[in-house]
Amino acid sequence: MKRYQRAAGAIAGSAVGDALGGPFEFGPPGAFSARFPSSGAGAGAGAGAGAVDEMCGGGGWDPGEATDDTQMAILVAESLLERGGLDLPDIFSRFQRWAASDPKDIGLQTEDVLTNGMPWDLAAAIHFQVNQRAAGNGSLMRASTSAVHFASAGQEATMDAARRIAALTHGDRTAWEGTALFHELIRVALEDTDPLTALPDILAHVHPDHRGRYATVLSPDWHPDQATEFNGAVWPCLGSAVWALRTTASFEDAIRAAIDLGGDTDTVAAVTGGLAGAYYGLDAIPARWTQPLHVPLPGFDGRVLHLGDLLHLAHRLGG
Ligand SMILES: [Mg+2]
Repeated sequence: MKRYQRAAGAIAGSAVGDALGGPFEFGPPGAFSARFPSSGAGAGAGAGAGAVDEMCGGGGWDPGEATDDTQMAILVAESLLERGGLDLPDIFSRFQRWAASDPKDIGLQTEDVLTNGMPWDLAAAIHFQVNQRAAGNGSLMRASTSAVHFASAGQEATMDAARRIAALTHGDRTAWEGTALFHELIRVALEDTDPLTALPDILAHVHPDHRGRYATVLSPDWHPDQATEFNGAVWPCLGSAVWALRTTASFEDAIRAAIDLGGDTDTVAAVTGGLAGAYYGLDAIPARWTQPLHVPLPGFDGRVLHLGDLLHLAHRLGG
């Protein structure tokens, strides 16, 4: 499979998962399959009579509307492209501009860090010092674009970039390591290596203080029911996404499994969609999901990105 198929699959797949999961956020397990008992694939991609329309909207979201996860991933992508590489103060200021423009959703911790008036290199660290809890999935959720961009720089560089971008809003190294793991999983997928097979090797690059806990949630016998925290935390979120990829056989079924876990469904499905999109490639994502997909960018001149824009970004980011 061509590298671009996987890169575009990661970015579009994450956005699709986000938009599909948004209406089910904080809902109970199984809500997605209760509403959509069978895949729409059998009805064909043409959405003719009888086709199911899982891109349903609700909970304040329009059908196909991507949430803060994808919005922030786009902000990172545009900074990387316009600044010609990693410019952390620029990413932070784009996040601030977005946060000040009343996005429909924003993580509690992310909002606090972006609006507390501290400089870019202190805001998250001070928040962590004060609160002592910053292991949310809010840096993992937005990592699809940076993962594609830094993949060609190699294992060390992509994991390092992931940690630095995560640290803009999350002072807890737990969040850095989870985001670094995601970057590396995408990197190996883009190299045509099975990320699940590579997991034991990838874990060796995780900071030793955090390796054991990630080894637990990423092991083949772990199930999301064994999570010790809500899946809005970074460990069970990544663990659930890898579980969804491992225990299904298609992009669609991985997303379905992720959303059916309930809880933080948009983010678990966004992370799952990034991994599954890289794994199965862009062509495995149903057109009935990519057609209504759109990504508003509050604070950025009312722009709304569609699939073609995401594919263009994927190409420019190094797909
Ligand atoms: Mg969200």
